[in-house]
Order: sequence, then C-alpha cells, then structure tokens
Amino acid sequence: MTTSHQHFLNAQQVIPGGVNSPVRAFRGVGGEPIFIDRAAGAYLYDTDGKKYIDYVGSWGPMIAGHAHPHVIKAVQETAIKGLSFGAPSPLETMMAERICKLIPSIEMVRMVSSGTEATMSAIRLARGYTGRDKIVKFSGCYHGHADSLLVKAGSGVLTLGLPNSPGVPADLAQHTITADYNDLEQLKAIFQQWGKEIACIIVEPIAGNMNFVAPVTGFLQGLRQLCDDYGSVLIFDEVMTGFRVALGGAQAYYGIKPDLTTLGKVIGGGMPVGAFGGKREIMHCIAPLGTVYQAGTLSGNPVAMAAGLATLDLISTPDFYTQLTQKTAKLVNGLKERAMAAKIPLFADYAGGMFGLFFSDATAIHSFAEVSLCNVERFKHFFHHMLQAGIYLAPSAFEAGFVSAAHTDADIELTLATAEKIFVDLT
Ligand code: PMP
Repeated sequence: MTTSHQHFLNAQQVIPGGVNSPVRAFRGVGGEPIFIDRAAGAYLYDTDGKKYIDYVGSWGPMIAGHAHPHVIKAVQETAIKGLSFGAPSPLETMMAERICKLIPSIEMVRMVSSGTEATMSAIRLARGYTGRDKIVKFSGCYHGHADSLLVKAGSGVLTLGLPNSPGVPADLAQHTITADYNDLEQLKAIFQQWGKEIACIIVEPIAGNMNFVAPVTGFLQGLRQLCDDYGSVLIFDEVMTGFRVALGGAQAYYGIKPDLTTLGKVIGGGMPVGAFGGKREIMHCIAPLGTVYQAGTLSGNPVAMAAGLATLDLISTPDFYTQLTQKTAKLVNGLKERAMAAKIPLFADYAGGMFGLFFSDATAIHSFAEVSLCNVERFKHFFHHMLQAGIYLAPSAFEAGFVSAAHTDADIELTLATAEKIFVDLT
C-alpha cells in the first residue's frame, strides 16, 4: 500500500508543492498534508486508512456531509446522460430559478465553474456597468485569485505571507483600493476622495478568509449607503457564506440587499461551480444581451447542476439551519468552556454552519490587524494534536471552520473531549 507520506513525495515531483491549491500544503501549520482516499458523512479517510472527523468540508461545499446518497444519486443519473453538452440544458434554468427564489436580490444569474470566476466576472461587470475602474476591497478578505483581487488578500495568501502576488501588474493593482474591515469612517474618507471613480465595493459579508470576523452593527448598512450615494455597485461575495450561514446567505442573515452577489461552494455540492447574479438592469450588461464579455466551456455543466440542485434540496428542508446552528453552537461553546477551564485564552465566534477559533484573549475581533495578533504558534500545536487524534481542522490559523448536517452529537462530544485533553498540555 502506498502511504500518505509516499503519495506526498510522489506528488511533489510533478505538482508544485504537491498540491493543487496552496493552503492544502500545510504551510501554515508545518508538517505534511494527509492524502485522502475517500469521504462519507462527517468523515475523511486517508490513504493509510485513518479516519478523521472533518471540520473543513472541502472548504465549505459539503454542508450536507460527504457523499450524501441524494447528491450521489442525482450525479449518477445525470452523468449517464452525458457529461457536457456545450449547449443549454433545462437543469441550468432550474438552478437559476432556485437561486433567484432563495436569494431575492438575485433577479438574474450566470453560472460559472469556480468562486474565482464568479468574483472576477462580477468585478468586470461592475466596471462595465459603471464605466469606472477603481474597486474597493478589505484587507484580509479573499475573493479568489483574479489579478484585481490579489491585493492584501486573505486565505492562503495570508497563510503564506504573500499579501501582494508577483505577476499582478502594478498598473492594474493601482485600481484596487484596500480598506480595513469594519472601519466605516475610513471608507467614508475613501469615497470622499475617489467616490465618483469607484465601480464597486466587494466584501465578504462575514469575513471567512482571515479566520472568522463578523461585521459590526451598521457596517454593511454603511456600505449600502455609500454605494447608493456614489452610484457604485455593492457586491457581496457570498462564495463562502451563501447557503452556509442561512438559506438566503449573509444578506438574509443581516437583512441587507447587495446589487450583485457571488456564489460558489455549496451551490455545487462538491462539484466545480460558481455563480454571479443580481439586479436585472446590471445583469443585462452581460453578453450576449450586453457588451461586457464573460463565457465558459463548462459553465452550467449538467452534472454540476445536478449535484448543486440536490444539495439545495437538502438544505431547504425545514429546520435545517436551526439544527446546523445548534451543532455549531455546541462545538464552539464547548471549546470555549474547555479552553477557559484549562486557562487557555480562546476567542470564538460562529454563524450557521461556519465558525472561527482564535487563540487570543481579545473579547472581540473586528479587523485583519486584530486577527494577526492571535497566537499562531499555539494554533499550530492544537492543530497537530487534534489531527493526530483524528480531528481534521483547517490547516491554518486564518481559515474558518465548517460544520455539516452529518456531524452527530457523538462526533462533537468526541471533538470536545479530545480538545479538553489537548488544552491541558497546550503551551
Ligand atoms: N470568495 C470567497 C469568499 C472565498 O472564500 C473563495 C474560496 N475560498 C473564493 C472567492 C474563491 O473561490 P474558488 O476557490 O472556488 O475559486
């Protein structure tokens, strides 16, 4: 049997860093990634046969649990009819109708194949619609790896300490203005100076790529107001929060209507899917109706649509989010209590099936500057002890965690009992 370690050695010969996405490489925590053989429900099984309780969920999509029979059946029944047509199919309309119904600010939607494509296209659309070049993003927010958005970004960019990637032309980056998350006064000053040149604000309505940072009261309303005052487009990047913190996403959770929304992860149920949509008037600017170009050979892929629709069926059942939130609360509150008993300062927060853990004595965390004060060394120790005990957390102190409907009370209790033992010896 080839061990996980051998798989990693083999992969490094032919794949940069042995991984197809940087955070998987464990650079944020040290050590080697585990290679996965299969996954079912709340569990991952590595190629050595070891089982893990999974709190990454493929970085968000697996909200119903891995290999859910309803999703797998839909994929199998669709795959047998052909994998891609390059022509429209009814499943795409079904998906679009479902998205528009669940997220009312979306009047029209275009499917793409990743979150990166969704945000990249939404930015181009906002620029095309307004005829302006400048965009505003927040430090520590990650919106995929399109050039304009790789400026002071979060996620792997943050974990690897590469805030501004080489390869992004300075001429382009100069159009990206970065502001501090939750700092409305700073943003007002930015708009006073450049407001009439700003095409859009793009924001994670709960920041999940610098761990987990919730918006303070009034922050999202303030963004809405500024965009209205200056004729800029407000883009909520709900690739992570969409269908994750509530059925209608963070915009339903907080009651704010953006002009455009980007989606990904959950709407693909584990298949490569993204989407962007919003006001009809803005979406009319996209080709072939309008002149802003955007396209994709595999966009709206039937198998991906089937997986997404089946996942949306599962999460649309009554009480789905109440139960999911209860599980997350049990996990987060249980960790806080046990850390406190062991005198380990831990700040933690959650919404729906998404949570963040900070080894920090802060009583609130609002910005990237505050996130960066947390004890990364302590997280690394905690992470590796949990991994060894069969609990798989995101391999970085700067990533959110995810709970799925498949996590049982017993899974959460085992996680808490394991953490309790680790907290006692944590340095
Ligand atoms: N936006 C947000 C908020 C994300 O969390 C991510 C991925 N974690 C992306 C965009 C990019 O999505 P993808 O990795 O599918 O390109």
